[in-house]
Amino acid sequence: HDGVVPLAPEDPLFGLMAAYKKDDFDRKVDLGIGAYRDNNAQPWVLPVVKKAEELLHKDPKLNHEYLPIAGLADFTTAAQKLILGADSPAIKDKRVVSLQTISGTGAVHLGGLFLAHFYPRNPKLLYFSSPTWANHKQIFSNVHLPVKTYPYFSPHTKGLDFDGMRSTIEQAPEGSIILLHACAHNPTGVDPTRDQWKEIAKVIRAKNHFPFFDCAYQGFASGDLDNDAWAVRFFVSEGFELCVAQSFAKNFGLYAERTGVFHFVTGAGPDAQSTIARIGSQLTLLQRSEISNPPAYGARVASLVLNDPELFKEWKANLRTMAGRIIDMRKALRSKLEELNGKEGSWKHITDQIGMFSFTGLTEKQAVKIKDDAHVYMTKNGRISMAGLNTGNVDYTAQAIDKVVRE
Ligand code: PMP
Repeated sequence: HDGVVPLAPEDPLFGLMAAYKKDDFDRKVDLGIGAYRDNNAQPWVLPVVKKAEELLHKDPKLNHEYLPIAGLADFTTAAQKLILGADSPAIKDKRVVSLQTISGTGAVHLGGLFLAHFYPRNPKLLYFSSPTWANHKQIFSNVHLPVKTYPYFSPHTKGLDFDGMRSTIEQAPEGSIILLHACAHNPTGVDPTRDQWKEIAKVIRAKNHFPFFDCAYQGFASGDLDNDAWAVRFFVSEGFELCVAQSFAKNFGLYAERTGVFHFVTGAGPDAQSTIARIGSQLTLLQRSEISNPPAYGARVASLVLNDPELFKEWKANLRTMAGRIIDMRKALRSKLEELNGKEGSWKHITDQIGMFSFTGLTEKQAVKIKDDAHVYMTKNGRISMAGLNTGNVDYTAQAIDKVVRE
């Protein structure tokens, strides 16, 4: 059957990573993939993760038996508290169900699959931001959820296109699913303010939409776990029924261990517990046919840290180290760029944006040129991973950006 299966395109991000690896230029800079690097451009195993791993390896009872279908309960329970807050009314009322997933990707997928089967409206329609994480479209298309977009980024202000976002959500058919990034929006680094979140919640409520939060950067954005969970907790406190896809890839540096959780929260009400039991049972059935049960290692590591007050404290310090270094790099990049072009404030968006990424405003042509000429690797949409910058390459990168925007 030659030719029946068409050749699929290479994943652009992973293709960029391969090109970077092959490049033997000694000052090459990798601003592509969203993974934390230390100031020597090396992957960083969080010291608290190392400690937890040592504890795990010392445990004589540790084995490789299957986890339950819903995963490690100590982990998913702690993950609930982390995102919803330990004193969350939803946890207290037992109207949350949580399943361990194949990192954030698996959580988004399980949510999409569940909604494709059970969301009680036809046609179902899911809105995500334009732009968004490159994988969202594929994940939802794979489960046959029709998708549309709402505007998000204003190229003019290099900030949030709040009016565009709000009015599109307002005009969406009643009962649409609205995907929201909980914090540190990927790829733009632009988040709504708290007042804007409140307005978005009002529109979602008025239109009877269903909020679906994707949370891949809690603690990574501001260095403060509670601050980064604010939007999700606000929606829960307003009584919304919603779901959350939670990744531990970035905030624990557990990228390859595929550690994540999917949470479904129902609104308060006399039937809440029976509703959540029915939803949990269907999620379990879907999970069984998809992965049978999730991988244990990353969940064990994260669980040890989340459930031990001393380790938890140390984790928070590790998070501040990562977030702090990224914030320093934002300041350094902006000030060098402004020094080079002599225009104060012209790169303000670099320090206004938060989290792993910055949307520089570079065009696709410029992003390709800076790779070819200066060996600075970024995605074609002009997104740079701030973690790829360090004190050794930030000046070189600023010079390369300054040059390419002048040409
Ligand atoms: N959602 C968003 C918005 C992301 O940026 C990411 C990570 N790139 C994910 C989900 C999921 O990543 P992972 O599967 O590695 O947890």
